[in-house]
Amino acid sequence: MTIVRGFRYRLDPLPEQEHLLRQFAGVCRLVYNLGLEQRATWGRRHRIGFASQCVDLTRLRAEFDWVRAVYVSCQQQALRDLDRAFQNFFAGRASFPRPRKRGVNDSLRFPGREIEIKRLNARWSAVRLPKIGWVKFRDTQPTRGSMKNATVSLDADGWQVSFACEIEHEAPAPLPAIIGIDRGVATTLALSTGETMKMPTSLERIEARKRKAQRVVARRQRGSKRRRRAQRRVARLQARQAHIRRDFHHRAALGIARRFGVAVLEALNTRNMTASARGTVMEPGRNVRQKAGLNRAILNAGWHAFATILSYKMEERGGQVVTVPARFTSQTCAACGVVDARSRESQARFSCISCGHTDHADTNAAINIQRRWNTPLLDVEGLRQRPYEASTRRGLTVSENPRSSGGRC
Ligand SMILES: [Zn+2]
Repeated sequence: MTIVRGFRYRLDPLPEQEHLLRQFAGVCRLVYNLGLEQRATWGRRHRIGFASQCVDLTRLRAEFDWVRAVYVSCQQQALRDLDRAFQNFFAGRASFPRPRKRGVNDSLRFPGREIEIKRLNARWSAVRLPKIGWVKFRDTQPTRGSMKNATVSLDADGWQVSFACEIEHEAPAPLPAIIGIDRGVATTLALSTGETMKMPTSLERIEARKRKAQRVVARRQRGSKRRRRAQRRVARLQARQAHIRRDFHHRAALGIARRFGVAVLEALNTRNMTASARGTVMEPGRNVRQKAGLNRAILNAGWHAFATILSYKMEERGGQVVTVPARFTSQTCAACGVVDARSRESQARFSCISCGHTDHADTNAAINIQRRWNTPLLDVEGLRQRPYEASTRRGLTVSENPRSSGGRC
């Protein structure tokens, strides 16, 4: 089995190298955005794809010196990224590709066979990037396997390089234990064993500071130096949040992967959940305000990112991540199997109206999720659905949680 791992380091380019990196990133962004415009306008009718766009790139390079000045592989990689973005869009995994922005998507990628790495001393190494030269980076961990590509990107912490390496890996036999994981907003992760894990609260503190900083940006005049400074502050806070979130995901995933052979997650479509709040003109969404808050929390929790990190950590150890339908997992009693929205006493508490079983609501859901792996229980649970009593004057809709205040599904 081959697996792909990323190794990330902080780059330390010389001033003239940094100038080149910025220029390269700018032209690659332009190539990406031009390609996007071309595909958005003509793609369907003229079957424009990666190959035809590479031909167009060659023409563009012949015509403009400043496009030719930038290393060709980086530009091809930008078109490849675009192609992948469209593939993800057509497969329903992502929204329609958006233009890359200056200061947000400053990155360029080199194919692995075209770069070299050498060790300088105990702390520093250098990578040779075509047309840029040897650039130093802080060598904090050894890479393994064969290099596929190197991505150089600029974020609020400065320039970074990330090597994607293919590693030959013999996975051990999977561990026997199975775990169900409920991903939520109040408790970030609830395990079927009863354990809960919460995103560090420092994230919320930084969020408050970030909002404040964003309001400052809105007050500053467009194009002014003070506005740029305020924007940089927002970006720094955002980068710190991303770092905390990533760190939490890695720690939580490692802890789970070391103990369990199968991790069962509910299949959540965060894209649908975040998109539907406002609704359409014909059918305006309900609880727009509440849902907007939930959306923020979902994005904060970064559920997709966690699933990805967990699945590669599991696979490395011979385990696997499986997803099961999410319907009714939070309304089903883990003790007797009765489904009823009224059992969900509050956001935090589950108290079965049939058998009286009580538990933390997320733990109860996690146990249901764990049971759904390899069982055709869902239809049965659906049949045992109890209708709402007439006195509540509310019909029970299957597609959404009647207790909309929690926003759970
Ligand atoms: Zn029960």
